[in-house]
Amino acid sequence: AKENGRSQFRIYNKAMSDSSHFQIEISQRLRESLIHEEFHLVYQPIYCAQSEKIVACEALLRWDSNANKNNTTPDTFIPIAEKVGLMIPIGNLIFHMALKELKKWRSNGINDVRMLINISGKQLLQKEFFSQLSELLEIYELIPSDIGLELTEHALIEADDELLKNLSLLQVQGVDIAIDDFGTGYSSLSYLNKLPVNTLKIDKSFVDYAPYRNNDSAIFEAIVGVAHKLDLLVIAEGVETTQHVEYCKSKNVDMLQGYSYSKPLSSQDLESFLLPFKS
Ligand code: C2E
Ligand code: CA
Ligand code: CA
Ligand code: CA
Repeated sequence: AKENGRSQFRIYNKAMSDSSHFQIEISQRLRESLIHEEFHLVYQPIYCAQSEKIVACEALLRWDSNANKNNTTPDTFIPIAEKVGLMIPIGNLIFHMALKELKKWRSNGINDVRMLINISGKQLLQKEFFSQLSELLEIYELIPSDIGLELTEHALIEADDELLKNLSLLQVQGVDIAIDDFGTGYSSLSYLNKLPVNTLKIDKSFVDYAPYRNNDSAIFEAIVGVAHKLDLLVIAEGVETTQHVEYCKSKNVDMLQGYSYSKPLSSQDLESFLLPFKS
């Protein structure tokens, strides 16, 4: 019944977000919020499956509730922002907020937790993307291996040779390049080995039923198998239950992310999670 309720909500939400009136209203509000910087990030810990230690956190965007009158979630407002060209300035703000937070971890002695940042397709296609990223790392006194970029298959499909060259340069410098939502886009097993990628994030939809259904488990195992053969690390997302955790460990997934470990946390709430990793 719960599953049903959720999908009905999705359909309703999708109908809403497809209406141009709704989109115009949201994009106007987003513009105002950009001027006043009414956004913040939350951080979801990612755990090493073997050591159970936090090895990274994913930065996830939130629109401050006072400005976000309809309580619109990122799944809804980010595609709108992307469509109207706002994901470039919002993306810049995301970088500043994430790197400022990361710099704070480093000055608190938390040295081995990477910050993973979601990059929208439009952002990546910008000419200045790569030079700006290097400048930002300098400004915040960070190094490439402090961060990772999460790119969707969708974003990568439009990548030309020059962009791929720039990405592999980042990779060589130590930036972790992850393919996000793997399996949900234009399935891309064939080009996985052509892309400069280190990490593959298996979409939650493949994780959900994998412990319980043979067909789902077969796909899950195949993804992990191909990834490992190509020397990619695997993160399973949407790990919600101990069954998911045990299943993923039994299939040699490298890293785990999901409510079973932690929901995305505010900067303040994250502090106690990171405390044990102080050196
Ligand atoms: P995503 O990148 O696939 O992020 C994972 C989403 O799954 C997040 O939703 C996270 O809160 C949620 N999640 C994590 N663990 C669990 C779990 O165990 N169960 C369930 N049910 N959900 C879980 P969120 O924060 O609402 O973000 C939704 C999407 O919006 C993201 O999907 C991403 O595509 C986009 N997004 C969020 N923040 C950013 C950002 O800073 N930049 C860009 N470009 N996109 C972002
Ligand atoms: Ca992501
Ligand atoms: Ca994802
Ligand atoms: Ca997703």
